[in-house]
Amino acid sequence: MAEIFPGIHWLKSPIALEQSSLAHVNIYLVEGDKGYLLVDAGWNTDISFSTLHNFLIKKGKNFHDIKQIVVTHVHPDHYGMAGRIKELSGATLAMYHTEKDFIEPRYVSMEELLQKTDRMLVVNGTPEKEMVVLRDASLDVEKYIVPTQPDQLLHDGDTITTGLFTFRVIWTPGHSSGHICLHEPDKKVLISGDHILPRITPNISVNPQSIENPLGRYLESLKELRRLDVELTLPGHDEPFKNLKQRIDEIIYHHGLRNLEILGTLASRPRTAYRIAKEASWGDNAAWKDLPPFHQRMAVFETLAHLEMMAAESRVDKLTRKGIIYWAEK
Ligand SMILES: [Zn+2]
Ligand SMILES: [Zn+2]
Repeated sequence: MAEIFPGIHWLKSPIALEQSSLAHVNIYLVEGDKGYLLVDAGWNTDISFSTLHNFLIKKGKNFHDIKQIVVTHVHPDHYGMAGRIKELSGATLAMYHTEKDFIEPRYVSMEELLQKTDRMLVVNGTPEKEMVVLRDASLDVEKYIVPTQPDQLLHDGDTITTGLFTFRVIWTPGHSSGHICLHEPDKKVLISGDHILPRITPNISVNPQSIENPLGRYLESLKELRRLDVELTLPGHDEPFKNLKQRIDEIIYHHGLRNLEILGTLASRPRTAYRIAKEASWGDNAAWKDLPPFHQRMAVFETLAHLEMMAAESRVDKLTRKGIIYWAEK
């Protein structure tokens, strides 16, 4: 726990699942004249709950001192405990207006989303025998989430004020299509969620809930953030950092290299996204076979994001043969 900026407290909330390479998710408590604004909530586990509870006790506060909750997006590590905190505190819960639509299909009635994911894996070349493992890879997260509807729907350009801080909502689609960042122009602080992380590049994938060309949209929204006056960036994972513009340039460069790597696999003949993902290198040069099923599934959908972006730029062709999608060099 640290006051990372005067009036902004940073808590490292432990993650619930070992399959993530990230040790914790960051939650931020921003001071206000009536109480705290909580940005992101962490997984709904006893240990994350105590992390927050202990902070409040140490400050001589309780849950009723949390007045507003904003989630950057509804992934379980950011949204999981929001419902439980809302219940205890009576705080309002806010999120981007389109992000709300993912709560029900992701966490309440999952059958349709599973079927769509299934279909997407099949048309992109995943062999039948690997299907079940890949499709069901993330089923065990539901117990760490309290699905709760928001009280307030946010739009790009809206402001969220605590009386001491006024954040502008910036819609940053890509990692999730209703992802937002919060910018405090006077304090030069940016809360970046999973849009910009200091060490790893966030997962950008084509999936049943993504918008068209998510990687293209992601890079566009990065460039938009590059124009902001920011001294301190508070990310959703890892450590807060100062050099935002440099980090944005690194991420853009990384995706450029990935595009080239993927183009390289298409040199001899058309391939499916599954096949390309299998041949590509994955984080720290890990080979496909070493990735756990959940990461293999993400790898197929990340590869698709690169392919869709290059298709939008007329660098690759998309072909359909017998219901299976193949990608070819232009
Ligand atoms: Zn996320
Ligand atoms: Zn996250």
